[in-house]
Amino acid sequence: MTQTGQLSKTISHWLNNDFFAGVSNVTAPVANPATGDVTGRVVLGSAQDAHAVIDAAAAAFPEWRDASLAKRTQILFKFRDLLNQRKGELAEIITREHGKVVSDALGEVNRGQEVVEFACGIAHLLKGGFTENASTKVDVYSIRQPLGVVGIISPFNFPAMVPMWFFPIAIAAGNAVVLKPSEKNPSASLWLAELWKEAGLPAGVFNVLQGDKTVVDELLTNPKVASVSFVGSTPIAQYVYATGAAAGKRIQALGGAKNHALILPDADLDLAADAMVNAGFGSAGERCMAISVAVAVGPIADELVAKIAERAAAIKIGDGTKDSDMGPLVTKAHRDKVAAYIEAGETDGAKVVLDGRNVSADGGADGFWLGPTLFDNVTPHMSVYSDEIFGPVLSVVRVEAYDDALKLINSNPYGNGTAIFTNDGGAARRFQNEVTVGMVGINVPIPVPMAYYSFGGWKASLFGDSHAHGMDGVQFFTRQKTVTQRWLDPSHGGINLGFPQNG
Ligand code: NAD
Repeated sequence: MTQTGQLSKTISHWLNNDFFAGVSNVTAPVANPATGDVTGRVVLGSAQDAHAVIDAAAAAFPEWRDASLAKRTQILFKFRDLLNQRKGELAEIITREHGKVVSDALGEVNRGQEVVEFACGIAHLLKGGFTENASTKVDVYSIRQPLGVVGIISPFNFPAMVPMWFFPIAIAAGNAVVLKPSEKNPSASLWLAELWKEAGLPAGVFNVLQGDKTVVDELLTNPKVASVSFVGSTPIAQYVYATGAAAGKRIQALGGAKNHALILPDADLDLAADAMVNAGFGSAGERCMAISVAVAVGPIADELVAKIAERAAAIKIGDGTKDSDMGPLVTKAHRDKVAAYIEAGETDGAKVVLDGRNVSADGGADGFWLGPTLFDNVTPHMSVYSDEIFGPVLSVVRVEAYDDALKLINSNPYGNGTAIFTNDGGAARRFQNEVTVGMVGINVPIPVPMAYYSFGGWKASLFGDSHAHGMDGVQFFTRQKTVTQRWLDPSHGGINLGFPQNG
């Protein structure tokens, strides 16, 4: 079997610091979206393969749990250094299998690296509390301990950053990880696995399990798995949450999105138009924080639409390894699904200001191309408004006043990200207070929180209690233990069946 890094290859699992073929002979094609060429085949693991990977992680856990914080931190720092030196390689792998332009792929790696840097401070982050003399000569203290084997299931749109939202903190906290990447672009995970090995991580602490629902179901029900961190579409997030929680696991499941930007009449319209184009069409709209609805308040709509259209028409579409602004969509099936939404929007009566189906791309004839599409006069009953399209399609909805815009956003089932564009501090403050969305930008279109804050949406965009990374991440990947101790002068109070009292 040929391994990762070659042109046409079999993309395998990773177990005990080595490639692992497993027993399943089922594979799925992995394509370069800019050419349409199949560049490899990823193995789709069986339940037996999942057992082997989970067992390896479970076997590695006790020793890793007992590794000192100093040792764990040194490995984290080494991993961070190697990643920083060689992240260009990872960005190219992402572009070859996802399609996003290399600079954008590098951006995702940089944001993931920030979580590694946060996790380098694990010794500080894990400090517990200590109370001396809580009762006479009795001390109480709390410690945080790792969970055991933790599963991470990631989507296609950030093959490096989303896993890195979770695994640096999970590993730093002493857990053993099983990462199940998207089968659409599985190679980045193996590159990261090799980097961990080079950084000195013991065998079995970071493992990769390739596959689809079969291995996901194993992660959700196998008694050796303590938790699952999932990121993907809302229906699967809901399924993962319900199934994993029913099996007694700790679950965080981040789902889909339909992010609105609210543009008030006093906003800087050039700034807002730039932001709509960047956030609407960057990464071909395949970001969970992409803006897909621009809500234009009052009389500015005509001017705003014209400014967005002018900018969007100038976007260079092409192979992400060339001098392009926007790459192809991830698969042909997804490209065709997004094109069908454009057709539906037209049929439903939205005004097509810019039609991405007429794209001319600097890339392979069989690439999965679709240009930026701009709809005006969109209303909530249209499928381009109600559904998460996850492509380069931006809808403008016109409303009379701030309250109409707020009502629209708050009635949406999703609540991942949102943004307001205004020069009125009072309006911005009111919006951040009133909007039912987890991440809010004020004149910032893609408000992805820093690693030391936490990333997560509300409503149908997240199932569970924990957001990703930051202190939520530290808490998710550890459980608390509280110890009450008495050493000096233990008083023998004799038999007393009463509830312990403090004195
Ligand atoms: P997806 O839900 O199709 O797949 C996500 C993961 O679930 C993959 O690893 C996939 O193999 C697995 N999966 C797919 N179908 C399954 C099934 N029936 N049973 C069990 N597992 C299954 O999502 P995607 O298309 O890879 O990614 C795009 C979606 O992810 C969008 O909805 C986007 O909004 C969302 N997303 C959300 C966030 C967030 O932070 N909220 C971040 C990135 C992406």
